[in-house]
Amino acid sequence: MPIKVLPPQVASKIAAGEVVERPASVAKELIENAIDAGATDIRIEIKQGGQRLIRVSDDGCGIAHEEAPLAFEHHATSKISSEEDLARITTLGFRGEALTSIAAVSQVTMLTRVESEAAGTLLRLEGGEVVRYEPHGTRPGTVITVENLFYNTPARLKFLRTEATESSHIVKLVSAYAMAYPELRFTLIGNGRLTLQTSGNGKLYDVLVKVFGLEAAQQMLEIEPDEHASLAEGSVPPPGPKTKVWGHIASPSLHRSTRTNQIFFVNRRWIKDRSLSYALAEAYRTLIPTGRHPVAVLNIAMNPADVDVNVHPTKREVRFRDPRGVFATVQRAVRHTIIGQAPVTTMSSRPAAVVPGAWRRQQRLPVGQRRAEMAMEIQRTADTEIGAISSAPMLEQLPMLRVLGQVRQMYIIAEGPDGLYLIDQHAAHERILFEHLKTEQATMTVSSQALLEPLTIELLPQQRGLLEPWIEHLTAFGFDITPFGGDTYLIRTIPAALSTAQVPEVIAELLEAASEGLPVATSAERTLDIIACHSAIRAGQTLTLDEARELIRQLEETTSPYTCPHGRPPMIHLSAAQLEKSFGRR
Ligand code: ADP
Ligand code: MG
Repeated sequence: MPIKVLPPQVASKIAAGEVVERPASVAKELIENAIDAGATDIRIEIKQGGQRLIRVSDDGCGIAHEEAPLAFEHHATSKISSEEDLARITTLGFRGEALTSIAAVSQVTMLTRVESEAAGTLLRLEGGEVVRYEPHGTRPGTVITVENLFYNTPARLKFLRTEATESSHIVKLVSAYAMAYPELRFTLIGNGRLTLQTSGNGKLYDVLVKVFGLEAAQQMLEIEPDEHASLAEGSVPPPGPKTKVWGHIASPSLHRSTRTNQIFFVNRRWIKDRSLSYALAEAYRTLIPTGRHPVAVLNIAMNPADVDVNVHPTKREVRFRDPRGVFATVQRAVRHTIIGQAPVTTMSSRPAAVVPGAWRRQQRLPVGQRRAEMAMEIQRTADTEIGAISSAPMLEQLPMLRVLGQVRQMYIIAEGPDGLYLIDQHAAHERILFEHLKTEQATMTVSSQALLEPLTIELLPQQRGLLEPWIEHLTAFGFDITPFGGDTYLIRTIPAALSTAQVPEVIAELLEAASEGLPVATSAERTLDIIACHSAIRAGQTLTLDEARELIRQLEETTSPYTCPHGRPPMIHLSAAQLEKSFGRR
């Protein structure tokens, strides 16, 4: 094929594809523009997950009448003017590509006015073409309405997920910006209903309450503000030689199955960065179970010259000039806060108030005991690194085992035909319950228990849309959930294996799974997994010899005793040969 330059309309649709992946991308660019325009009150309305309509209204500086069409031109920006400016970006936008990209794949109406003008401007574009441009009365500020996203790019339209999923992306986005800018007031309206609203009083804690719920917010630890505490709330960080970290992090009792609740801001820009998640994981090492992730809202401030934000069209990826330095600073600040403030949890959980989105409550231990616990935890990690001990091979069936006892209220020690076995009691029980529930579910015989008094659960407004489509699905697993008006739901029956106290945690995790957009039909395994995990006995529970024997007997009956849904080894096998070698007999 001969080489030719693409017609501008095709080229701009390709370029738009890089910025506008889904409705949440549009919301992101419009919110960033409102923040850059100095708005203090930002209102976001969406219809049908944002595909039908996204409207962002702000009280910012507005756009002058004669400049309005220019805002929709390629590379048109008021934020930078020279190459040098790229190295000192303090605004969220700088590429001058967002409005063009959005306009190329939707129908856009803009109402805007700078305060000094008597009337404002109305501008309408369809598929990137201006179709109306005239003076129009409006209050100072800007209102941009984006309708029928991807109406002219059917391929993209097909890739959109369900309305609930697309909405939940927007809820996450607005929540993130509300946390990054507690001094701004954010209002999110979904299909005409108030979904999220922050006060703009400048207190990050108050925003955390709105986003995660009171119960969870109360369990977060504030990263101790250092001498630059004034940075913590409100102001844009001034350039400085050092990297500063502040925010709120989970106490070790508060962890989730995914990293979705780890939120990072660099110079108040919401970014994703694996190394920061890794720094968190390192800081929590030995304090939370493997495969679980702490909740965290972290702000990092640094000299703009030390971070490149021009890495990807969506501006969500950044490159640090000194990645190791940033990693170390984050890890240190987090670790310092946990060790300094966190009450160490005992593994057994106390029933929490029935609020989904609420995390397990910790039990406070005296300091001496806390130190001892930590020392043991650290020693445990060191143990597991000894080369001679291997995790058990992937045999299909467990050999007959003779239970010898329990170690650290966590592991069952048993003897088999070829050496010793250390079995994680929680993982083992989880496996048993999982297989049991799976059989029951497949044969539609899940045993459920009716509660004497129905449980009442209060959802956060942003969670309601997630639960509704799952209610029916959950009946097959033993749940009977009915709406009780507003954000309240009644639970009348629960799976027989589950205890009432565990229900809020389970509902919270199910909602998290739903927010990841798991199609209901294929999420049976995940649902079973969540129920099994929360029903299983915990580490820290003393077992009598008989109970331990019964557990091992049931484990022997499972089809895959060596598999744990979380990918951790459920048992460690020390073969007779390894023992002999270690004792120098061979
Ligand atoms: P960028 O944000 O990278 O400059 P955009 O395409 O997002 O590029 O916006 C282009 C320009 O339009 C901005 O530089 C700004 O001058 C103007 N603009 C966009 N949205 C707003 C708004 N809400 N209020 C005031 N000006 C705006
Ligand atoms: Mg912009």
